[in-house]
Amino acid sequence: MISFEMPNSIRKTVTLMQTVAENMMRPVSRHFDECEHEIPWDYINFTHEALKAMGGGTLAPSEGNGRPKEADAPKRPSLAYQRLAFSAEVLSWGDAGLYLCTPAGMLGAAAVQATGTPEQKQRFLSRYRGDKPVFDAMAMTETHAGSEMPSATRTTAIREGDQWVLNGEKIFVTAGRKALVDSPGFVVVWATVDPGAGRAGVKPFVVEAGTPGCSVTKQEHKLGIRASDTVSIVLQDCRVPLDNILGSAEVQTKTEEGFKGAMATFDASRPLVAASALGIARAALELLKECLERGGVHIRYGLPRSRMTNLEREVVEMEIMLRSSWLLVLKAVWMMDERQPNNLEASMSKVRAGDMVVRITQRAVELLGPLGISREQLLEKWLRDAKINDLYEGTGQINRLIVARRILNYSRHELS
Ligand SMILES: Cc1cc2nc3c(=O)[nH]c(=O)nc-3n(C[C@H](O)[C@H](O)[C@H](O)COP(=O)(O)OP(=O)(O)OC[C@H]3O[C@@H](n4cnc5c(N)ncnc54)[C@H](O)[C@@H]3O)c2cc1C
Repeated sequence: MISFEMPNSIRKTVTLMQTVAENMMRPVSRHFDECEHEIPWDYINFTHEALKAMGGGTLAPSEGNGRPKEADAPKRPSLAYQRLAFSAEVLSWGDAGLYLCTPAGMLGAAAVQATGTPEQKQRFLSRYRGDKPVFDAMAMTETHAGSEMPSATRTTAIREGDQWVLNGEKIFVTAGRKALVDSPGFVVVWATVDPGAGRAGVKPFVVEAGTPGCSVTKQEHKLGIRASDTVSIVLQDCRVPLDNILGSAEVQTKTEEGFKGAMATFDASRPLVAASALGIARAALELLKECLERGGVHIRYGLPRSRMTNLEREVVEMEIMLRSSWLLVLKAVWMMDERQPNNLEASMSKVRAGDMVVRITQRAVELLGPLGISREQLLEKWLRDAKINDLYEGTGQINRLIVARRILNYSRHELS
């Protein structure tokens, strides 16, 4: 039977996260928006300890989060990605930029999880339980291409003896500074081992903090999610051990193996971007309704649509958009937990949530007029934070293309 009830274990996580969001994120939200490159260490250290105390040290789903599996452990259906979606929503309700500073396994961990061997997952994903907070990042985008990645990858990885030598430049790397400079973290860099092989030659490599030849060269000033660092990384004869290539080094031109690794990473991460969008949208909608109530406008939910005011209809419309987006996210993460292919659902959830969050935050700002624009409230910030959900990890246009290809059963060459 289908159940839409939140499982008890997730409810406990959400309650804790809600307390963190209310007490540790909202009060400093404006500060870290205005002091863009300041690192929110209080939030980082607190969440690191809290996650360790909860037994994981990471939000990143993995078989045991890098711990060896107990042979007699009972087999229960996994809730890892569902838990992650609820956590992303609540923490982004607190502050989407600060959420991206959670030292708990983000896009880099998702790439390791999607493409690494069991030994590599153990090696790279167990570090979150250490004494110090650790960050990870994933570097795919380059100066000449974003949507066209990974097939347009120019960064190279050449094998020399028992090492890979990486050369190239990556831009717009979320949490790249925290992963490489501020913690003993790592960045998963996508590079080609065979430029003639197209996307099949593109492989993920783990570059650890402190590796000579890997440097952070630029930190972006952004429209929104300003608490989160976004950097450029230059790789100059950067040598990593042979077994830091995630998965196989073999280039299989027929199967486009490298591309599949990137897609598997995004199938896991896109619903979580959508969940983050849900959190921002809920924050905006709640504040809008609160302000309307204070102004004496009560939404009469029970009325037929024809008897509602235009304002009431708009608010109800926003609620519908928010809730239907949630259902798409839940389906996409449930499929991840069930190990079912969710490429269509992942992109669909992100398209819908990306549109929804921009629409809701923008209308909320418009409806509240001066209060919406004012820095006294966080609404104008949420409008700025909203847009990224429609940009990174595949723009709205690119995810629409993926949805269309999946529904029509067209290949990339037939529909691009
Ligand atoms: C704050 C931020 C954080 C980021 N974090 C990361 C990160 O951690 N790691 C990483 O690797 N990258 C990251 N990115 C990069 C992001 O994923 C890319 O910006 C995104 O993929 C788009 O690529 P582009 O900017 O090169 O745009 P382009 O690919 O040049 O696209 C420009 C416009 O054309 C549209 N377009 C392109 N192709 C088509 C098509 N076939 N049909 C219709 N429309 C099309 C796009 O939708 C877009 O609107 C980040 C970006 C930002 C802004």
